[in-house]
Amino acid sequence: MRRDVSEFAKKLDIGKLSGLLDIPEHRITGALKRKTVQYVWGKKELFRFDKPVSSIEGGTSVFTKPFDIVRGFPKISRTLMLNPALQKHFSSCRKVAVEEKMNGYNVRVALIGDALVALTRGGFICPYTTEKAIDLVGLDFFKDHPELVLCGEMVGPDSPYVPKTFYDIESLDFFVFDIREKITGKPMPVMKRRALMEEYGIPSVRFFGEFEIGEAHNEISQIIRELGGSMHEGVVIKDPQMILPPVKYTSSQSNCADLRYAFEFYNDFGRDFFFGRVCREAFQSVEWGEDEESLKKRCRQLGENLLLPMIKTIKKKKDGERIAENVQIRVKSLDTVKEFEEYLKLVGVDAVFEAPEKIGNEYLVRIRKIHQSTNDRTEAILGGQLWS
Ligand code: ATP
Ligand code: MG
Repeated sequence: MRRDVSEFAKKLDIGKLSGLLDIPEHRITGALKRKTVQYVWGKKELFRFDKPVSSIEGGTSVFTKPFDIVRGFPKISRTLMLNPALQKHFSSCRKVAVEEKMNGYNVRVALIGDALVALTRGGFICPYTTEKAIDLVGLDFFKDHPELVLCGEMVGPDSPYVPKTFYDIESLDFFVFDIREKITGKPMPVMKRRALMEEYGIPSVRFFGEFEIGEAHNEISQIIRELGGSMHEGVVIKDPQMILPPVKYTSSQSNCADLRYAFEFYNDFGRDFFFGRVCREAFQSVEWGEDEESLKKRCRQLGENLLLPMIKTIKKKKDGERIAENVQIRVKSLDTVKEFEEYLKLVGVDAVFEAPEKIGNEYLVRIRKIHQSTNDRTEAILGGQLWS
């Protein structure tokens, strides 16, 4: 339920928030008026930053009872030309740490009062992810470090957002890639973070090593080719001290898989989504100095991943089918299913839930996410509507 902000703004201690975030009060009140900072009432009452405000990241969540802040997860820039970008971006580091970029969805797990919450990138509490996090992460770490937030990727087939089957994960697992201070967002150095996770038995994303700046691009190109071969997404390259911001670099296979997915629901994605991904292919091809044969292969793959899914969608619609995406969740409690259904309504996702199926001590629930915009546009064009 998203209600009128002004009605709820008094629940927020603006003076305290301004002090802790080090931004002027009028920026916060202005953002509340514009609904850039929104009141959200769900599992817990909170205000979320829909977009950045001054230096504060979008996705930041401010809780009211008890008062607490979890900073949003910062955007990670992408390199298209690996070697020059590494030299330029990490010029003040001797080495870079390379970790796998896993393809799932970004989650921040934190303790608010005495409850564990799992926040999505947008700063909402996801009830499904929270149930999973209680099981996967537990309270031990937070009893010792209540001021920290675990940032990681939720990966696996039982994912309502980014389902992936190739990781050999049974349901959904959580892999930590960052530990930050809740209020300041300050990150912990890479090896210290990994050692701490090991101590508490919480999985981290895969670590490939620390490489000298001069050699890193050769190592990373090799890693990317291997990861691509098994559909894995790519790497995130980090300053071991986490002073400079990290950089991401991904495989062509994963890029094409994203395109294949997005073109099936072509009208529900922004056009930038497509353009950026085509550019990545062109720069990677040049950096790798591809011969005629590799180039042809890349072109064919790109073309097939753009056109085939869209043609499939048009044919489906022509046959009177509804364009939808099938996902599934696996829960212990049926209450979580209800809460998750409410949550999807709150964030504006149109979804049809099937009846829960009991499997052992859990329930599997299949969900059809309806991509309305693609349905409407395809139907209209098939009926003769002009493109513009
Ligand atoms: P961004 O907002 O950073 O541009 P995006 O939504 O476009 O992100 P991605 O292209 O998937 O997403 O890249 C960034 C995301 O990668 C992070 O938000 C995080 O969820 C995910 N990720 C996976 N593995 C790692 C890792 N090892 N280190 C950092 N982030 C990782
Ligand atoms: Mg991702």
